[in-house]
Amino acid sequence: MNKHAIAIHGGAGTILRALMTPEKEAQYKTGLQNALIAGNEILSAGGSSLDAVEAAVMSMENFPLFNAGKGAVFTNKGTHEMDASIMEGKNLEAGAVSGISNVQNPVHLAKIIMQKSGHVFLQGSDAELFAKTMNLPFQNNEYFFTAERFKQWQDVKDSDTYQLDHTVLETGEKKFGTVGAVALDIHGNLAAATSTGGMTNKRFGRVGDSPIIGAGTYANNNSCAISCTGHGEYFMRAVVAYDISCLMEYKGYTLKQACNYVVKDKLVKMGGEGGLIGLDASGNIELCFNSDGMYRGYLKQGEDPFIGIYE
Ligand code: ASP
Repeated sequence: MNKHAIAIHGGAGTILRALMTPEKEAQYKTGLQNALIAGNEILSAGGSSLDAVEAAVMSMENFPLFNAGKGAVFTNKGTHEMDASIMEGKNLEAGAVSGISNVQNPVHLAKIIMQKSGHVFLQGSDAELFAKTMNLPFQNNEYFFTAERFKQWQDVKDSDTYQLDHTVLETGEKKFGTVGAVALDIHGNLAAATSTGGMTNKRFGRVGDSPIIGAGTYANNNSCAISCTGHGEYFMRAVVAYDISCLMEYKGYTLKQACNYVVKDKLVKMGGEGGLIGLDASGNIELCFNSDGMYRGYLKQGEDPFIGIYE
């Protein structure tokens, strides 16, 4: 039996201590802690890494401070279009969804797509239709309204910039609030999941890296499980999650070497800001980012949990 482990992120970016109130910081930590507990409960009962990453991500989707599910950012039209994906390392099964509205838990839909649709990736209103036929919970628009996200959108909505840096105008803060989880269960199986509202004021059906298998999410028992957050355009072009898996599988890199090379060298040279969480089949964990901070945490069987925000 393997020792189980789980790692999570709630987004990377310019998260500076000077811009954070003690109350906000405590709220973020609570959100991260709840997600770790949700995933860990499943793992410690002998459950699968797939169910654990789903539970951890759903917990963060239901928490309004993260840019996923309930706290998803506004599009240029004032709507919420969410993306998510999930992958199992034992058989390379995967499910993904993009551009959906009103589905309460996009990562749950990604899992149902993987298990029940016969496909990997569904999008838009037809994916919502599939969710309805599967009786998944839906919420009205008010559920997804948060005053903070609305203000972030108001600040940029008359410009044609789509905003990665959600609150950069007023506070100088830049952050990507996507959520993700990676887990290893006692059976030795890895899994990864990622969920996001994307970028404030995004237009034309823009989709980032989060629902793209190999870019924002990847899991393979021969290498690692990865979930990314950051400027999606760069993460797609660098095929970040799969790149790390390949460096390990084909070139013998350790998880640490692969993460450091891709996040701190390759992405930096391209101009891509962000980070990722990674977990290998031996239970090694990397929380790697090239931005000022990343909401992050992990919990290994028999150890105290770790939660971090700043560098
Ligand atoms: N990677 C996400 C995207 O580009 C954004 C984020 O990580 O917050 O849609």
